[in-house]
Amino acid sequence: KRQEIGPQEHAIDPSLVDERALNVVHTLKEAGFQAYIVGGAVRDLLLGLRPKDFDVATDATPEQVKGLFRRAFIIGRRFRIVHVVYGRGREHEVIEVSTFRAYMDNAAAEAVAGNEKTSRSELAGMKHAVDATGRVLRDNVWGPQEEDATRRDFTINAMYYDPETRTLVDYHGGMKDARKLTLRMIGDPTTRYREDPVRIVRAVRFVAKLSPLGFKLEAKTAAAIKPCLALLADVPQSRLFDEMLKLLQTGHSVATIEQLKALGLDKGIYPLLDLIVERSEQPFVRAALQDTDRRVAEDKPVAPSFLLSCVLWSDVREGWAQRLARKEHPFPALQGAIDDVFDSRIGDVSGRGKLGADMREIWMMQPRFERRTGNTPFSLIEQPRFRAGFDFMRLRADAGEVDVVLADWWQEFSQADDQEREDLVAQVR
Ligand code: ATP
Ligand code: MG
Repeated sequence: KRQEIGPQEHAIDPSLVDERALNVVHTLKEAGFQAYIVGGAVRDLLLGLRPKDFDVATDATPEQVKGLFRRAFIIGRRFRIVHVVYGRGREHEVIEVSTFRAYMDNAAAEAVAGNEKTSRSELAGMKHAVDATGRVLRDNVWGPQEEDATRRDFTINAMYYDPETRTLVDYHGGMKDARKLTLRMIGDPTTRYREDPVRIVRAVRFVAKLSPLGFKLEAKTAAAIKPCLALLADVPQSRLFDEMLKLLQTGHSVATIEQLKALGLDKGIYPLLDLIVERSEQPFVRAALQDTDRRVAEDKPVAPSFLLSCVLWSDVREGWAQRLARKEHPFPALQGAIDDVFDSRIGDVSGRGKLGADMREIWMMQPRFERRTGNTPFSLIEQPRFRAGFDFMRLRADAGEVDVVLADWWQEFSQADDQEREDLVAQVR
């Protein structure tokens, strides 16, 4: 089954390969180990896209890998991988190196990672055990490359590339599927979704990402999704929340929502995601999604707090208006409305301190943009989250919710020097 494909056939452009990934592969091979670029990076290389990060797979153990690099850190309590770090500060680059794993192992690791109620000692006694829904529960074990390939999700995500010999190693016809623009689950899709239902969400993410190239889900891979959807109920909310953010923040949020609708998944993955799909046609939410995709395309940072505060803003606004109608004071009324929205829409996730705090700050800043007298603008602009609050207000202006003149004024104010700022404030009176 193992196929080795040469550069003539796969036509990978060597200039798309990160030199640090090349260095990791080189160092491991020099030390006598097998080493390949693997997973999403190989998929992207084969499709002519520049991978955003590079993973390396090897037959060396994490300890052996660590020993070969100056700055390498073994991470992960459940299954250990090595982060090899190059450069410093904002420019730093991490190459993730994982040891080939046995087939059952991945799902087991997912089950361990996902099932907080199962203790490690319990799991150790459950080698090869399968739970009621068919999920594999077993501890982490290394395996041969072939099994490492088979435990992966899609055929195009399961290829290995040696950037030195320029050989592509393919066990599951990933290259053929890439040429056919097909996203195909390895093995029996139903079984694989049962092992790890998050693969359903991953199918949506990859088909959305690759839809501009014309990719489609293979028929059986698609058909098994709906019948397996209910299995997502057993996945911890925190993991689903993280997967939802990957759907929304990797630059393809608009395409993802289209795919969710087309696949009949507009409800059922995660409550907050259902709400986003439902509201995706609202001009303000639409603008926020497009803005997020644009920022990712321009390599600018995106924060989940920003998008989520956009999606939930209509709830905050309504609650706020109701409280104002009851003659509450504006600021406590807004506070109260925000509390209600956290309770009703965010639930557990509000426990993620920083995210909730950032959303609250963005919202609480909004009425303050209306006050442009005295010291208010000067103190508002010093807020650490001013930029997010302003971007949010700009989107509200684009959606016709606040005066564009106000947004333009703040834009000018934020870019002005001290004297110009005094003048701008004076103009308001
Ligand atoms: P991206 O470009 O979005 O990072 P990726 O393919 O690199 O896409 P990752 O989540 O970074 O996706 O995972 C790396 C690789 O690990 C995948 O390509 C796949 O081979 C494997 N993988 C990750 N999650 C799963 C899973 N739930 N089941 C099976 N294999 C998985
Ligand atoms: Mg990746």
